[in-house]
Amino acid sequence: MKSVKQLVSTAVMNEAYQYMAKDPMKNLPKIIDWAEKIKKVDYYQNTLQMFREIAQDPENNWNQLIQRYFNELNPTTQKKFLINFMVNAGMVGQSVIDKSKEKYDCNVPWAILFDPTAACNLHCTGCWAAEYGKGISLDYATMQKIIRQGKELGIYMYILSGGEPTVRKDEILRLAEENDDCMFLSFTNATLIDDAFASEVERLGNFAFAVSVEGYEEETDMRRGKGTYQKVMDAMDILQKHGIIFGFSTCYHSKNTEVVGSEEWVDDMIAKGCKFGWYFTYMPIGKDAVPELIATPEQREFMYHQVRKFRATKPCFLMDFWNDGEYVKGCIAGGRNYLHINAGGDVEPCAFIHYSNVNIKDVDLIDALRSPLFMEYKKSQPFNENHLRPCPMFDNPEKIREMVNKSGAHSTQLEDSETVEELTAKTIPAAENWKPFADKLWASPHE
Ligand code: SF4
Repeated sequence: MKSVKQLVSTAVMNEAYQYMAKDPMKNLPKIIDWAEKIKKVDYYQNTLQMFREIAQDPENNWNQLIQRYFNELNPTTQKKFLINFMVNAGMVGQSVIDKSKEKYDCNVPWAILFDPTAACNLHCTGCWAAEYGKGISLDYATMQKIIRQGKELGIYMYILSGGEPTVRKDEILRLAEENDDCMFLSFTNATLIDDAFASEVERLGNFAFAVSVEGYEEETDMRRGKGTYQKVMDAMDILQKHGIIFGFSTCYHSKNTEVVGSEEWVDDMIAKGCKFGWYFTYMPIGKDAVPELIATPEQREFMYHQVRKFRATKPCFLMDFWNDGEYVKGCIAGGRNYLHINAGGDVEPCAFIHYSNVNIKDVDLIDALRSPLFMEYKKSQPFNENHLRPCPMFDNPEKIREMVNKSGAHSTQLEDSETVEELTAKTIPAAENWKPFADKLWASPHE
């Protein structure tokens, strides 16, 4: 049930949206004027000032991104993004989260990532999802339980991964429809996206997609299989036609970094309709991992500079999940900002950390947040004073070893259980190689 605060905020934001949509760039500054007069938004004054400056400068790349929002997205999506994402997840939910943290003395995240299924119609080289246990899925009641208990704690953002979430199209649409105050985002290989599915997503408005793509045809098909790139391009056209929010989700590794970090490729993705782009780096998880795919320190530094440059100039929200640790004070896992629940129900600190003490089928969400491994995370974050070395596995392998051993967490890799010592044996060289580069960047003036 929606709270009174949420009902009032939704009604007010609906009015504000109707007014703004009439002439967005002219009316946005007036909405900001009005918002600044409300006492309760004191906390957001800096954000409002930033929006004011953006709204006054048509050359600004964020101004252009806002224009794309109004020009390219369908009206339902525009409204749902504003209310579900900005208001419910960003404002209403955040104050409940703050209270929940205090009450339970544990991390409470802003977003929950869960895998509706481990099944996938592709088999990408070096993908850990392939090793989770192919036939496993979260039943619908468990997914509903995660969201219901999440909302009680103030969480309105749900991210689906896998496996391939669109293998279960009907159920994920039903989840979005039955939780129409939440925002959903699905990672997807996009090969199952068609017109009928996109029409339903357009009708609901509270669903976005992070489309996996690894460069142009050669780089994408190299890991994902022949013909995948073309299917991804077709899917982007379908999503764009329906005015749905989507962006690229790209794993950079030793073989594709120069391509996916190039201006030409980013411009092409924006031209296809991407409103955001998320970069991840290759992690050697599981026994089928390919450590040679780990990006070199030079490549990681290259991405550090490129993403900062593009973020300041392109009408697209770009993030690099490893090199942007400085904006979020290091690692966001363990419930600090997010957690992961795999298709078997194991509650893990992060999609890349396959260790857990608890299963969501046996415990409530709050108990999972207070489980030993999560409490170890809370105690130890940040894992490094240098936020360009944020990760307890990839950058500080001794930290994940210590936390897993102290908490007694077990491996959640269903088909090829891996000890934390086996895992970190693969990441120690990468951590040692990156350290001097990260320390030099951290010591130099940065944003
Ligand atoms: S555990 Fe590593 S990969 Fe996961 S959020 Fe933290 S820094 Fe990122």
